[in-house]
Amino acid sequence: MGNSKPKVKRRFHSANVAVIGLGRFGSALATELVNSGHQVLGIDSDDRIIQHLAPTLTHVVAADTTDEENLRELGIAEMDSAVVAIGADLEASILTASLLLQIGVKQVWAKANSASHGRILTQIGVHHVIFPEYEMGRRVAHQVSGESLDYVHIDEDFVMVKTYVPVVFEEQPLSEAKIRASYGVTVVAVNDGSGYKPAFPDTVLRKGNTIVIAGPKGPLDQFCQLD
Ligand code: ATP
Repeated sequence: MGNSKPKVKRRFHSANVAVIGLGRFGSALATELVNSGHQVLGIDSDDRIIQHLAPTLTHVVAADTTDEENLRELGIAEMDSAVVAIGADLEASILTASLLLQIGVKQVWAKANSASHGRILTQIGVHHVIFPEYEMGRRVAHQVSGESLDYVHIDEDFVMVKTYVPVVFEEQPLSEAKIRASYGVTVVAVNDGSGYKPAFPDTVLRKGNTIVIAGPKGPLDQFCQLD
């Protein structure tokens, strides 16, 4: 047996997802799912969109999803999850989401274009409501201000940031930089120009390296403001 570590096996689960509304958001989401090995049924009422995406997605159907019969015939109730990516047409978004819940789809996701749209989706029981413009706006703000190269909320108070090594930590190994002890944030990975590698205590932070760092929002925002 030697000292080989037992490997934890995690079977890859290829999910079956229905994506309803193949505008900019829905088509990007559906394509990314397919590229990650999942099965996607793409639905849109616009025939031209369906023809355009037919070569990319697993299955495509032109249908109006505010019609319950259409949803039942497509077998959406048996799928792992469904995403309502209709935004501008509030009525179509809400009707579609409520029908998906009624026919028993296990996980319903829906995109909201405004706070009130999101509130209604939550009230009718949608499991996951997403605000792409709001979330992307918050993310890009940190890039525009120059504080970071990328900024992702993992939770409301926990963020992950891509940024340059602050001058005070240049040419220091992480064990001496004591970033966690001083700031309460953790350097996760370092890119010295040859791609991101996991950070270890003996990893030396060099001028111009980019780092991925995770931690509570307040302390991490302070860290990002270092020169
Ligand atoms: P995006 O910003 O992602 O481009 P949007 O927020 O502007 O989209 P809409 O234009 O309302 O959202 O809808 C996106 C897609 O949903 C469109 O391609 C539209 O044809 C489709 N769609 C709208 N209503 C229905 C419906 N009742 N059934 C099926 N598809 C629909």
